Amino acid sequence: MEIVYCGHSAFFIKGSKKVFIDPFLSGNPSATISAQDIKECDVVIATHDHPDHLGDAFDICKNTDATFVSQHELVVQAQEMGLKAEGMNIGGTISVNGVKIHMTHALHTTETGHPTGVIVTMDGHAIYHSGDTGLFSDMKLIGEMYKPEVVLLPIGDRYTMGITEAVKAVELVEPTYVIPMHYGTFPIIETDPEEFKNRVGKLAKVIVLKPGEKFEI
Ligand code: ZN
Repeated sequence: MEIVYCGHSAFFIKGSKKVFIDPFLSGNPSATISAQDIKECDVVIATHDHPDHLGDAFDICKNTDATFVSQHELVVQAQEMGLKAEGMNIGGTISVNGVKIHMTHALHTTETGHPTGVIVTMDGHAIYHSGDTGLFSDMKLIGEMYKPEVVLLPIGDRYTMGITEAVKAVELVEPTYVIPMHYGTFPIIETDPEEFKNRVGKLAKVIVLKPGEKFEI
């Protein structure tokens, strides 16, 4: 399975199915691909409705016939546009096109509904994308119950966790791998991923990806 980092919090996961999470491409200065470049996709997930997360989700679904997955309120919007969409909410698990998705809480804001994180399980790998969030102690429960192998965590501070909180999140979730996200896209969320890596130390393997780079598991 390949986890391709597309900048900011956008990840294109390519296994037996193709899953795009938070596809902020148009207007993303760090994006290395555009929505039009995506020819095949099975599931598109938006953790919340902020434009730097919902991004090009609806366009990708339109172009590829992928199913849009998000919380109920955003799914209603997608369905009104005639897109294939599966609604869910925090605490629930669904299977869409062979991909298992569990929705978690996230500590953040939204215009519509509530911010979320997701655990995507496919081909025997569980990947936790926390969405935009502050640190919360139930991350320990997420680690215990869903045992994600890979965790995608924001480190850019100001709107989400910074490095100090993200290190604590790694301690709570106990994944094998961590990929930092939501930093460096704009000067206001600039930070040093190498400092994060040093401070995580032996807790987990930190994989620092530049936009366009991928991690294989
Ligand atoms: Zn946000």
